[in-house]
Amino acid sequence: MIATLLLLAYATAVATIGPRFLRRAHWQERYPRAGIAAWQALSASTVAAVLLAGLSAAMPMMLVTTTLAEFLYTCAMLLRAQYATPTDALVTTVGLGVVVVVSSRIAWCVARTAIGVTRARRVQRLSLAVLTHVDPATGILVLEHAEAAAYCVPGRGGQVVVTSGALGQLAAEELEAVLAHERAHLRGRHDLVVATATALRDAFSFVPLFAAAADQVPRLVEMAADDVATRSADRRCLAHALLNLGGAPAPAGLLGAGGSTAAARVRRLVAPSQPFGIVRGMAAAAGIAVVLALPLALAAVPALAAVSEAYCPVSWTA
Ligand SMILES: [Zn+2]
Repeated sequence: MIATLLLLAYATAVATIGPRFLRRAHWQERYPRAGIAAWQALSASTVAAVLLAGLSAAMPMMLVTTTLAEFLYTCAMLLRAQYATPTDALVTTVGLGVVVVVSSRIAWCVARTAIGVTRARRVQRLSLAVLTHVDPATGILVLEHAEAAAYCVPGRGGQVVVTSGALGQLAAEELEAVLAHERAHLRGRHDLVVATATALRDAFSFVPLFAAAADQVPRLVEMAADDVATRSADRRCLAHALLNLGGAPAPAGLLGAGGSTAAARVRRLVAPSQPFGIVRGMAAAAGIAVVLALPLALAAVPALAAVSEAYCPVSWTA
């Protein structure tokens, strides 16, 4: 039972304290990709800890090593044994219930988000097929509209869309910077990153970590795309392009160059560049690895402690 309690305590701490710590971590703006990975790692670690807590409550013993058939047979026997007393039966039922409810809720919200995004993109593609024309020089879709805006439609055959208003306002170098930003979104599949964070927030909106991740990840995704764009474009040139786009948001479900984060990104782009450094990068990678491994370690410690036995407790009985 100790492993179950440890996992639940860990999940609670990460889900409540984690976002407070990470929101204040200014290094994310210097290295947004590490920031995205950190939010993803904390989220995955929390979900894994809750699922492992449920499993360890339902099945406090497991085989250390054996064939699959023996493993499944032993699992069935252990589950049957868990229903020998009313208390064990209650704990097992609650543990299995947590696993089923949490995993089903996540699967449902991921599927619902994916269907919604797919539908929105299909509508967008149909509209763009009628309303836009291909610019032969750049291959982008040009939408005749006075408002300056640029965004991309991710997915198979991802497309970059720029309004005629933006083409009229952006200098050639600025347009190149904006296109590099949009192509970074497409290549990095940033839409999937944002959709996953959104689905988790929708699944468990009362969890502070998931709400904060859904708020912060889109901002960091924009900065990550800026960083890719500035490998080939001047930082101030991209900043000027963002000012020209005037914070125009992308259509729902799509990623744009402007949007509500534009002002903060402009400030970041005009400030002196601060490379993250190899040491900080390695420290961030190590921290993320620890966060991902900790739930498994908490679940496995009792088993490792009894590794010499044929059957090992996943959850210590207090
Ligand atoms: Zn963008």
